[in-house]
Parts: sequence; structure tokens; C-alpha cells
Amino acid sequence: MTLALLVPLAATGCYPADASPAHTAGAPADARPGADHGHERLFPGLGNGGYDARSYNVHFDYRAGTSQMAASSVMDAVATQNLSRFSLDSAVKDVEMVTVNGRPARFRTDDKREKLHVVPEKPVRDGKAFRVRIRYTADRSKDPVSPAYHLPKGTKWPVKSWINTKDGFAFMGQPDRAHLFFPSNDVPADKARVTFGVTVPRGTKVVANGDLVRQRQLAGSRDEFTYATRDEIPTDVTQVAVGNFRPVDQRGPHGLPVRSWVPAGQYDKTVKNAQRTADQVSWLEKTLGLRYPFARYGVLGVDSDYNGVALETATLSTFSAHALTVAPEKVTPIMVHEIAHQWFGDAVSVRTWDDMWVSEGHATYYQMLYAASHGGDALDATMKKEYAGDAGQRASGGPPGRLKKATSLLFNTDAPGALMLYGLQNKVGESTFRKIESTFFRTYQGRSAGTQDYIDVANRVSGQDLTPYFKSWIYGKTTPPMPGHPDWKPAQTG
Ligand SMILES: [Zn+2]
Repeated sequence: MTLALLVPLAATGCYPADASPAHTAGAPADARPGADHGHERLFPGLGNGGYDARSYNVHFDYRAGTSQMAASSVMDAVATQNLSRFSLDSAVKDVEMVTVNGRPARFRTDDKREKLHVVPEKPVRDGKAFRVRIRYTADRSKDPVSPAYHLPKGTKWPVKSWINTKDGFAFMGQPDRAHLFFPSNDVPADKARVTFGVTVPRGTKVVANGDLVRQRQLAGSRDEFTYATRDEIPTDVTQVAVGNFRPVDQRGPHGLPVRSWVPAGQYDKTVKNAQRTADQVSWLEKTLGLRYPFARYGVLGVDSDYNGVALETATLSTFSAHALTVAPEKVTPIMVHEIAHQWFGDAVSVRTWDDMWVSEGHATYYQMLYAASHGGDALDATMKKEYAGDAGQRASGGPPGRLKKATSLLFNTDAPGALMLYGLQNKVGESTFRKIESTFFRTYQGRSAGTQDYIDVANRVSGQDLTPYFKSWIYGKTTPPMPGHPDWKPAQTG
């Protein structure tokens, strides 16, 4: 393997792959390495075992005219075994130093597998909290595609993770790219609180997940902004944006602070759509019968095409600023989609990426429902159209719970997930469907949930065995019949 020599050797040195750490007096004799992978079928190398990450505190030093940022991150975690060594997902540039509980630790990086392997001076005991501090360089010109994508040589993957703009940057970390920004246990099941501190030239703004907890002036005409979330969020929906932003303030339901940010130069063109946010949150609260799950919300418009997507970054969904300039009937259903993700995807994260429909199916269903009740196509008509497309997508990309390729993850679970929820409502009736939805959310808020968890809640609440219905939609190779519409026929796929 071409491992450690790809990065400069730090003062604490590297260790060969097969070296076992020395035991220290008083250390648990059964300390063993944490697994260097999680339980992701689509992303087999992603994730790390032996600990639970609780928080990340990340700092960037942003300077105009260079893609490189001096960076540091602190991960607070709790060991879930006696841990002789462990790994983090990491594709950052130049790791310079790692400490564990304040003591220098040996480490090595594996660029191919995007890992940072760490050997603490003393093994960490099961159940103990420990702190990992990493000093590194974040390079916004370094944007490798996921090792799970296996693209044919010469294929260009169009999705960028570091979103560079003329006056700053933003993140697009879904599904497995947050570890380009900071070393982490980069799987959706391991949520953590995040704190982002960024130093910038005076006059430049920083926006990130959560609340602005500190702003201070530094020497040399520089400012530091620090944001922190109150709740644990998955790494793929972390966001930090630097640029010349201007706020758009509103009050949401029950006094919820709604602060959006748009590029100052596009304020007039974007402000009207940004100001629709508070009403959208109210609509979703009423429709779901659930309170918005976080302490604040807003949209962030970045001065970029943002890969042509919008992302449900927690507490602050991210859009291309251009998307916020278009006709409301085009963008508002998408804005609602991202708010619905604050419940489904963020406050309840998916257990593994094979459960992505739990996030995307709900967001897409409520997007379509919102459009239907705000002058768009009727829900039945939209679903009929999607139903006709399901067979082709299923045949080429696989069913939503067993996609053939990781590259399909961002796009191929929306429609089948929404169709399944629509059929569920037809099958059990609206009031039972609402109760399934709210019970599921309340049961798993602040945690992660998978396909079986949703099925269990639906069976319990409805008093029916709906397992075959769910399995046919999530794992079936062919499009299942649609409850309530026996006349709908899946397209022939030959
Ligand atoms: Zn979505």
C-alpha cells in the first residue's frame, strides 16, 4: 500500500501497518484495535468501530487567494471497547499532529482508503470518554470522489464537495464526503454535536449549523466566528460557509428564530423566496403534527450552482442562490423538501445508507403534498407519473433498499420512498398514516433509524402485518401494485 509516505512524517512518527501497540502498565490487557470500517454495504470502507463520537470542534483559518486553510479538529468520543488503537475517516491534507487526551499519539494516514489510524499512548478503557485533537491542512482544491464509486478511468464525477465561490466556500458533504472537511466517523448513524470556528478577513461573514455562540475581533483585521449546534447531527449535513452574506430574519411558529443568509449582491433577487421559509415550517408542523425539531432554521443561498442540488444541512438548508431567484412554484416545494429532512434525515438520521429512503422518501412525499396543496399538480397525478417511472429505475438502479451502486444513492430513493408512503396512506387511511409518522419520529428523534424500525412502528400502530408491503417496495426487483389504484400498471421494462 502507498500509505504513510504520502504525507510528511510528523514528529510523533508513523508506525508500520502490522505494528501492535506496546502495552502500558495498568492498561487493559484485552485492549484491541477498533474496526476500521462500519456496516455500510454501499460504502464498505466507511466508518470506524470501537467508539461513539459525541462532538466535533473544528477550526479553519480562511484566507483569500489560497485554497489551503490551517485547520484543527477535536473529536470527543466514548470508547465502546477496550481500545488499543482506532481510526477515523479522513481525506484531509497533511495531518501534522494527533494527540489523545492531550498526549502525542502515533498515527498514519491511508489516502487510498481515506483513513487516519491513531495509536494512543495508553489504551482507552471501555466506556471512557477520550479526546482526539488533530492539526491538519484543509485544502479546498483537493476534492477526490468517494472510493466506493469505482468510476471507470477517465470518468469525471460532476459533484463537488468543496464548493468554492469568489469570496469563500461552502460544504456539500453528502453522502460520505464530510471527512474531506474534518476527520470524523463519517457514517449517518454516528451523530455528534458540531462546533465550527472560522477566522476570516474583517468584513467577510461565516455561517454554519446551529447558533452563533461567539464573534470576536482578532489582530491583523481578522474576525473569528464560532457556531455550535445544541443537538447531535449526522456529519453529512454539516455546513460551514464563508462569503459576503446578508441575513434575512423572520419568526417561525412558537417564536422559532428563522434566519436565512443570501449573498449580499443578490439580496433583492432572493429575499422574497427566502422569506417564505417561516410559513413553510408552519405548514410542515401542522401537516406532520410535530414540532420543528431544532432550535432554529433558515436557508443558505450560496453564490454557486451548488452541483444543481439543494441539501438539508441541519438547521440551515443549502441552496444555490440562483435557485432562490426562480418562480415560487418551482422552488418552494424543494424548500419544503429540505425542511422535511430536518425531521427525517437530520433529527432522525438513517441507520445505514441502505435506509436512505427513510430520509428521502419522506422529504419527497411532503414536497409533493405541499405542491399539491399550493396550486401544483394533484398528489394522485404526481404519484401516477412517478409510478410509471418506477419499473425502469428499479431495473437499472436496483430497489431503494438495495441499490446496485453507491453513485445512485443521492438520487434513486426519492420517488420509490414517496410512492411507498403514498400507498401506505391509501392502505391504512390518513389518520393511521399520520399516527405512524408521528410515532416513528417521536420514537427515534435524536437517534438513527433503519427500515425495520419504520416497519415495526407501522405494524404496531396499524395493528396489521405490513411487512410484506414494505419489503416489496424497499427490496423488490419489480414495482409492487399500488394500493387504492388497481388500474395503475407498472411500465414494461423488457
Ligand atoms: Zn432530499
